[in-house]
Amino acid sequence: MKAEIIIIGAGMAGLMAGRILSQAGRDVLILDKGRRIGGRMASRRDVGLLFNHGAQFVTAHSPVFSALCDRASDKGIIEKWPLSGRDNGYSGRPSMRDIASFVGANLTVQQEAEIAHITQSQNSFILQSKSGETYHCQHLLLSAPAPQTEILLRDLAPKLAKVAGLAGYAPCWTVMAELHQPPEGLRAVIKEEGILGWASLEASRPSASPSGAVTLQANASYSERFLESPPEQVIKDITAAYQEAQNIQTLKWGYQRAHRWRYAKVVKPAPPDAPFMEKFSAGLLALAGDWHPASATPGKLASGARAEEALLSGYRAALEILSGLAD
Ligand SMILES: Cc1cc2nc3c(=O)[nH]c(=O)nc-3n(C[C@H](O)[C@H](O)[C@H](O)COP(=O)(O)OP(=O)(O)OC[C@H]3O[C@@H](n4cnc5c(N)ncnc54)[C@H](O)[C@@H]3O)c2cc1C
Repeated sequence: MKAEIIIIGAGMAGLMAGRILSQAGRDVLILDKGRRIGGRMASRRDVGLLFNHGAQFVTAHSPVFSALCDRASDKGIIEKWPLSGRDNGYSGRPSMRDIASFVGANLTVQQEAEIAHITQSQNSFILQSKSGETYHCQHLLLSAPAPQTEILLRDLAPKLAKVAGLAGYAPCWTVMAELHQPPEGLRAVIKEEGILGWASLEASRPSASPSGAVTLQANASYSERFLESPPEQVIKDITAAYQEAQNIQTLKWGYQRAHRWRYAKVVKPAPPDAPFMEKFSAGLLALAGDWHPASATPGKLASGARAEEALLSGYRAALEILSGLAD
């Protein structure tokens, strides 16, 4: 398969880059190893329940993302969610993945395409997927999390691989669970209590259907310490912490699943002046992703821990590619 520009990763960074490049008339193909679009803007439907088990809400500070949020809001895809605790905090209505789908609308995205190896010839990059497919492109943008980007670029682009090696993430154990007959008066959102980093009733999101679905996320220190623990133990610890935070010991639990995010939120972004593009004989090679974030507020350093900064890094990389192509 062939495209002028291939983007690895269909998260907020890759989708925003794809949006800008295809709006500029470029031929873009996005490859993603996951089953669904969105990366960590993740939602899961199971046994009739909807869980948002990745990013909980997005905040809009920059003109670029605020304008997108306004458009998504006009279309009824997102809504301000006061329970996020932020004036400019939005939830999907009610699925967070829908925000990513909105950013990536009309793009060509191939899911379940995990790129395992990248080389270059004189005039193209050659990508090999884990399942044995080959892709060719003239320009390439990587938006996978830093550890995966570092591995993919080690031989091809050691300087950029080194930049990826500077970034660091905290993990996050997340439990998706159902409460049978949730008692009146449960707190809808709990933040930073005990080992909980975040817990919310999914029914408290804008336009959500009534349900007993709760999403519980452990804080970084618990997730780090118990990263390799069996999911059953993690479910036990996190649901117990939730009961304690709600001050009710007799909640009736149904469906329970744990999901481990090995790379959840950036705790150490790449330095702001680190390069994110290199010229090869084949073409341009660019980087994006929350680990190499672009600031949403002028004069303020990006932390990398927010979806908006990931999206803006994709925006920045796309503009840089377009300006490289105009040279
Ligand atoms: C539990 C949790 C809670 C969070 N809470 C918030 C929050 O409340 N607010 C907020 O703003 N942010 C939050 N975040 C952070 C936010 O989700 C991320 O910063 C943002 O979504 C990252 O976007 P991205 O495009 O950089 O990366 P990703 O979304 O990770 O996208 C990268 C994509 O690359 C793909 N990929 C990786 N390797 C390959 C490969 N070899 N071949 C092909 N595809 C590949 C992956 O499948 C993935 O889809 C949270 C994250 C987590 C995990």
